[in-house]
Amino acid sequence: MPSPTDLPPHVRRLVDEIESEIGETDVAIDDITGSRGRTHAGDGRDDGRVEAAVREILLEVGEDPDRQGLERTPERVHRMYTELTAGYHVDPERLINNAVFDVAYSEMVIVKDIPFYSLCEHHLLPFFGTAAVAYIPRGRVIGLSKIPRIVEMYARRLQVQERLTQQIAEFLQERLEPQGVGVVIEATHLCAVMRGIRKPGTIMTTSSVLGLFRTRDRTRAEFLDHLARRPPDA
Ligand SMILES: [Zn+2]
Repeated sequence: MPSPTDLPPHVRRLVDEIESEIGETDVAIDDITGSRGRTHAGDGRDDGRVEAAVREILLEVGEDPDRQGLERTPERVHRMYTELTAGYHVDPERLINNAVFDVAYSEMVIVKDIPFYSLCEHHLLPFFGTAAVAYIPRGRVIGLSKIPRIVEMYARRLQVQERLTQQIAEFLQERLEPQGVGVVIEATHLCAVMRGIRKPGTIMTTSSVLGLFRTRDRTRAEFLDHLARRPPDA
């Protein structure tokens, strides 16, 4: 197996893309971020303020930040948060670059079961689940692989599920000016299930519908019908 640096650039790029969807590497973050992201996403601002703050939290909960297991925790937490909030630095122009096409297709396009992980802005705890995104083109379509990236761009921030849902829908509405957009997100919020407010396994569902998805019952019904349908082998 060739070492990562020996890979031809286009293969390296593909590897980076796959890594960015599952992983937490600097390279992957670089790949989806613009130049502004570069300075932030890596080890960026190394003034130690975040580390000092995490150390304070460890002390506050009664821990010894100097014991072996916790020694490097402040640094790891800092790094983790830059990764989990990398979406702030994604350049939407780069993300959709060359992936919008003029196509005379006007049926519903649906991408569903898109996994995502986000952080609730109230507790900084994860919420995660799946997104379904649909639109009806008006002469323009976007490459299918870009849709999970759009979800990722907005998920890797401090969020509330309602806003995440809306931002995805509005992004597609602005960029494609389609006849309509529908987004449904189902997610589990750890701040709720871990603290016992809701029963474990409780799922929150949010939706945002624009254009025909809002005004035409038949369109909305077709969308919801697709979401209820499982693939043949499931
Ligand atoms: Zn929360």
